[in-house]
Amino acid sequence: MSEKLEAWLRYFADLQLEPFYLERGMSAAWGSRRREQAQPQPAPCQPGRPAAASPVSAESSAGQAARAPIAVAGSLFDRLHVAEGDTLETIRSDLGECTRCKLHRARTHIVFGEGNPRAELVFVGEGPGEEEDRQGLPFVGRAGQLLNQIIQAMGLKRQAVYICNVVKCRPPGNRTPERDEIETCLPFLERQLAVIRPRVIVCLGSVAAQALLRLHRPMNELRGQWFDYNGMRLLVTYHPAYLLRNPAAKRYVWGDLQKVMTELGLSGVSSASRSSRGSRPNG
Ligand code: SF4
Repeated sequence: MSEKLEAWLRYFADLQLEPFYLERGMSAAWGSRRREQAQPQPAPCQPGRPAAASPVSAESSAGQAARAPIAVAGSLFDRLHVAEGDTLETIRSDLGECTRCKLHRARTHIVFGEGNPRAELVFVGEGPGEEEDRQGLPFVGRAGQLLNQIIQAMGLKRQAVYICNVVKCRPPGNRTPERDEIETCLPFLERQLAVIRPRVIVCLGSVAAQALLRLHRPMNELRGQWFDYNGMRLLVTYHPAYLLRNPAAKRYVWGDLQKVMTELGLSGVSSASRSSRGSRPNG
């Protein structure tokens, strides 16, 4: 038995799931459904306007009516304009050695984000922790190891997805980022998402969800729901750090991510060895 398969089985056992079989009717190829074929596409991302933050029922992709919006708060970022031809490299260059908010004072490294610039799936967390700050990479601590397991269980490799945070500098003591810090840093995340334009964004925790959706709703009203974010599907689930403190919540996360897998045509662990998965086909 390979080391990777053992890791998956350990993870499923940890989730208290029955053995995971591969033939579960979710066999659509990852890359076979282009973004244009996914959901009815709202207007192209216009970062100068508020995101269309409306929850969408899980059945809406099958043509059923979407639920009415919970609420749509006004954009905090109306001044944001994304230049045509923007790239991740340009965004990183614009960020520079950022001192725009007070989080710069205690940071070691800016944690910009990491992964496939053509990813179909983007995970957005809250902010770097101690290990992330030390390495300059997102989700490389204990929570990151759990996220890696989750990504593998979805049938993907970490390098096939893109991982980033709402704020790019570590809040002291891992405190929750403050509103002004989020407001200052978020335009860079919005530009990253506009450039990557994944089919699915998974918000890990309420900070990421509330920041991107501009919805000040508690986690229990956000988790497991589909939202529209500038024409991209966005789902909210628990942060891996929360799962480390509350392992029983893993089964809820797994349930949430199975929705994502269905949306993306992933069949789980069997596809992890397929290196092409997790990115859009060229062309
Ligand atoms: Fe700049 Fe964002 Fe770091 Fe604040 S958190 S200093 S806005 S990179």
